[in-house]
Amino acid sequence: MSRRRPERSGGAAVLVEGLARAKLDALLVTALPNIRYLAGFTGSNGALLVGRNGNTLFTDPRYEIQANAEANCKVRVVRGPLLKAVAATIRARKLRRIGFERNRISYESFDSLSVFAGPATRLIPVTGWIEDLRMLKSAAEIDAIRRSAATNSLAFEAALSRVRIGMSEMDLAAEIDFRMRRAGAESPAFETIVASGARSALPHARPGANPILKDRLLLVDMGANQAGYCSDMTRMAFPGSPPRKIRRMYDAVLEAQMAAVHAVKDGVTAGEVDAAARKVLRSYGLDGAFVHSTGHGLGLEIHESPRLGRGDKTPLRAGMVVTIEPGVYFEGTGGIRIEDTVLVTATGCEILTPTTKDLRVL
Ligand code: ZN
Ligand code: ZN
Repeated sequence: MSRRRPERSGGAAVLVEGLARAKLDALLVTALPNIRYLAGFTGSNGALLVGRNGNTLFTDPRYEIQANAEANCKVRVVRGPLLKAVAATIRARKLRRIGFERNRISYESFDSLSVFAGPATRLIPVTGWIEDLRMLKSAAEIDAIRRSAATNSLAFEAALSRVRIGMSEMDLAAEIDFRMRRAGAESPAFETIVASGARSALPHARPGANPILKDRLLLVDMGANQAGYCSDMTRMAFPGSPPRKIRRMYDAVLEAQMAAVHAVKDGVTAGEVDAAARKVLRSYGLDGAFVHSTGHGLGLEIHESPRLGRGDKTPLRAGMVVTIEPGVYFEGTGGIRIEDTVLVTATGCEILTPTTKDLRVL
């Protein structure tokens, strides 16, 4: 199967500079999304040694054909533990200082790497090098996320037209996942959330056998994974006629969401966007019910940097893609969240989610 490989935005050169600055001979990349980002390899077992003069991908024989077709670097197919082969290469090339992804490697893997590499090798922990590069999307990556968002919205409309009172949350989640794949996604980007009534007060509710009820809130949070890239959207529906109290709460969350969307711009900090949403909810006395951050980056993974949380100082940059998703939650009653995927631009942002933000009365 041939896959489109989104081009990188100068990541390789930046990494080589980083190696030199940190006086590292190489960086061992073990996180699969980071390997995919740097080398194009989409398999489930790999290790990438990023050197000053090029990269080497290590994988096992199951992935030989795929790795040779996908990877943009040298491929070594090995039998047995990958890290043993990585360590042998480190020793053979007389590399002394090797960076490793401290938050992306298990203790067991780290332990065997140090044993295999031997006492002459120093293992230096690094954090977020590739994640930082991944925050800024290339034109091809933005295109992939845009298509993923469009697919997600198509699937949402198709599934929403099939909602019936009494069907289970799980039935609707299955319908959504089916529609998503039919519309072009490889898979859902995360476990689809469908929550009816009081269960919508659980921000990460798992769909279950609970029926979709009349005159109760219905929350759907879904994302597509298309060509490896994620989208993320939350919409609210209401089977029946929404009471004034629900309408008012919905309008407050929508106003907060729009305020945060309008705050997004190159140079503005993630925390300032979060504050814009919080300020609106505070004016309605609802800020205490907003129990999570306003959004997150997304791309190859559903949750990436930056985090749009309280006081976060990370400046947003044109080319970042983030979600804007304030919500309010009341135990026993339910929750309301509205979420778009947006692209940060020099002058503001572009909403990549084409679905209307009206409360969908069914
Ligand atoms: Zn979501
Ligand atoms: Zn999200």
